[in-house]
Amino acid sequence: MWQVVGHNRILSLLQRSLERGALAHAYLLVGPPHVGKMTLALELAKALNCEAADPPCGECASCHKIALGKHADVQIIGVTQDANSAEARPRVEISIDQIREMQHSASLPPFEGKHKVFIINGAELLSIEAANCLLKTLEEPEGRVIFILLTTNDRRLPATVVSRCQRLELPPLAATEIEAALDNGWGVEPSKAKLLSRLCRGCLGWAISAVSDDTLLQQRGERLNRLLDLANADYEERFTYATQLATQFSQNREPVLEVLDFWREWWRDLLLAKVGSSETITNIDMSSTIVDWAKGYSLAQIKNFIYSIQTAGEQLRQNANPRLVLEVLMLNMPRKEGRSKEIATVLNYG
Ligand SMILES: [Zn+2]
Repeated sequence: MWQVVGHNRILSLLQRSLERGALAHAYLLVGPPHVGKMTLALELAKALNCEAADPPCGECASCHKIALGKHADVQIIGVTQDANSAEARPRVEISIDQIREMQHSASLPPFEGKHKVFIINGAELLSIEAANCLLKTLEEPEGRVIFILLTTNDRRLPATVVSRCQRLELPPLAATEIEAALDNGWGVEPSKAKLLSRLCRGCLGWAISAVSDDTLLQQRGERLNRLLDLANADYEERFTYATQLATQFSQNREPVLEVLDFWREWWRDLLLAKVGSSETITNIDMSSTIVDWAKGYSLAQIKNFIYSIQTAGEQLRQNANPRLVLEVLMLNMPRKEGRSKEIATVLNYG
């Protein structure tokens, strides 16, 4: 029984290949972060080494060892961050030395299992030399050795490497599927399961992390507060924030791109509320605020700003000047209608 939520098409394909003894010698699993690539890779490693009649059983000694990361024939290769390293910045690529070491290990017969399985996590981070070195191995497959490359973006891998692998794409899961899994498999209480299933954008791994790690929801709360503040802020405040984000972007892009994704989702929720589909919004715990806000903007304002967020994200990814891009975005953020009325009310009562 595969311990994987969703991805049924891929599972039945792998199951059929296993039964026929016709597995590829290299797979490339492509999908967004936390969608389940590593889980699937480990399940495949279990299936290949399981001692039971109907693999992967998840219960035999071999399956247990793989789950604990203690099976001698199943290795994970990825970017390592050595806390004691003398390097000022942690290494951000998979080096040729790591691939050479893997090749040496692959040339030896399995130590305790039936197959050697090498999982390359974050394959888009292979250095050019490492990718070329790996290519030789992929071109001359050895029996009983399987490579599983995991990546969020296969366009960042050399086409020659991609073409040597069987490519399997893991799309985001449906919110209903995730909600059911959180409820049944992880015992998450229903309202939290519903919220997380929407916030995780189809990536179960994120939702599971958020169950045990409160900081993920806290971070979302902070982003939400900031966004709510900015909608009513003057240009000075918005530009100060744009400068902060631009500085952050020059150090680490991902959190800034995540903020933009978060904004786009919020404004998409406003759009859905505006057209009367508020039952499908993402931020369901904020639904009354969203319905209320939607009344303060015209449909055109909402659509235009979603487009602006989208454009800003694309420009940042294409290395445009981050400060300029973010300032333009701040200028484009519409003001809520009726804001002057709110201020007038405050003044009257003040
Ligand atoms: Zn087993």
